[in-house]
Amino acid sequence: MGSRIRSVAIIGGGPAGSALAYYLGRAGRKVVLFDKGNRPPIIVGESLVPATVPFLAELGIEEEVRGYSTFKEGASFIFNSEESLSFKFADVRGAKTNYSYNVPRDKLDASISEVAARSGAKLVRETARVERVGQSDRVQLAPETLAQTEGYFEGQPDLIVDASGRPRMLPNLLDLPYQHGDRRDTALFAHCQGIAQVVEGNVHTDTLTHGWSWRIPLPGKMSVGFVVDSDYVKTLGADLEEQFDAILAREPVIKLWGDSPKRITPVLKYTNYQLVSKRGFGDGWVLLGDTFGFVDPVFSSGLLLAFDGAKALSTAILAGGDERAMRRYDQHVRHHIQAWQKTIDHFYDGRLFTLFKVGEVVRHTPIGRLMDFHFRKHVPRVFTGEASSKRYSPALVDFMCRYALMDNDPSALAIR
Ligand SMILES: Cc1cc2nc3c(=O)[nH]c(=O)nc-3n(C[C@H](O)[C@H](O)[C@H](O)COP(=O)(O)OP(=O)(O)OC[C@H]3O[C@@H](n4cnc5c(N)ncnc54)[C@H](O)[C@@H]3O)c2cc1C
Repeated sequence: MGSRIRSVAIIGGGPAGSALAYYLGRAGRKVVLFDKGNRPPIIVGESLVPATVPFLAELGIEEEVRGYSTFKEGASFIFNSEESLSFKFADVRGAKTNYSYNVPRDKLDASISEVAARSGAKLVRETARVERVGQSDRVQLAPETLAQTEGYFEGQPDLIVDASGRPRMLPNLLDLPYQHGDRRDTALFAHCQGIAQVVEGNVHTDTLTHGWSWRIPLPGKMSVGFVVDSDYVKTLGADLEEQFDAILAREPVIKLWGDSPKRITPVLKYTNYQLVSKRGFGDGWVLLGDTFGFVDPVFSSGLLLAFDGAKALSTAILAGGDERAMRRYDQHVRHHIQAWQKTIDHFYDGRLFTLFKVGEVVRHTPIGRLMDFHFRKHVPRVFTGEASSKRYSPALVDFMCRYALMDNDPSALAIR
């Protein structure tokens, strides 16, 4: 890897690739951002955690985003028709940002790519192709892709960044090893109308008899996702619309959503998304955003990982992009993903919300009050993303979920 990186080709103009193009463009690096532009009519990744807001501010788009998004003050979890829990970001002790947004993704992505273009990055609206150099670990832009840059780089770029998202272009080309999470769920996703909210604007997570669902309030509509066991979903109908509508009609907890939930878009399906690459960089290439790794839709960590990864990668590149800088980037992203992974695992195994229940009882005792003060600072900051890339807070959540449930059986709150 060259120790001085002046020119960078970024493949994929989602939040990760576009944010990186902005950071590098404003620092005077030569950047080409490729994006094929033919995205689906609706795009997942609409709920942002509060820790993404400072990135929007840094990109200079927060006001714009606020104009087309739903203002969000907290999160609601509905376990069954009797039990639910809502929390406000403003109640998180020591929170730096106590609000966030639910965003229409097409608009958000357009805002970020405009900022990238204004910072000096060259945008190429084409599908990029990359090829391996012989049998080596090195890659280069394919001739037709290089030609689309119209001589901008004077030859090949110093670095190729794969921010292509779930297609995972370079990991597939180089056959990179990856780690797959435990879940093999299917996520069905559509926009709906006529759906009630527990707390207006909040992102809602409902426990279903099979799996869980999200409700993300957007202006004039509701994003709804069902994350369910892949074998089970096939029993619900012949096509995605039938399957989605069957869950909407049958799940008992959805009776609380109002009398007339109505789907207004086709249904999109996502599977096999719990992938983390075991290698994050190599000779002249590096992975970013979902291509590097994604854990799970619950808790809305994806956009934060995308922005935080883009920032960390720009720091590594602007520091010279040598092996050491890239390793630091790799470790930072890997740690951040793993921290989310542990918290998310404890959502699925029921330990996380069992811990909350235990906390409600214990905090009325003197020792419990003392502990509660400490936990209230660290635990919610993992969900808001403010502490998710730190060492202590995620480790505390993991430790408590493992060892502090007393005699309470977490299986009642586990996701099936
Ligand atoms: C079911 C589900 C629900 C989710 N919900 C949330 C949520 O509520 N909140 C949240 O924060 N995250 C959520 N996520 C995660 C979020 O969608 C991603 O983490 C985020 O979009 C990653 O951004 P990215 O820039 O890495 O990739 P992407 O957003 O996927 O962008 C990649 C871009 O690259 C382009 N591209 C691909 N290949 C090429 C090529 N060869 N040439 C040119 N362009 C190319 C694509 O067109 C696309 O524009 C969810 C994910 C899933 C699976």
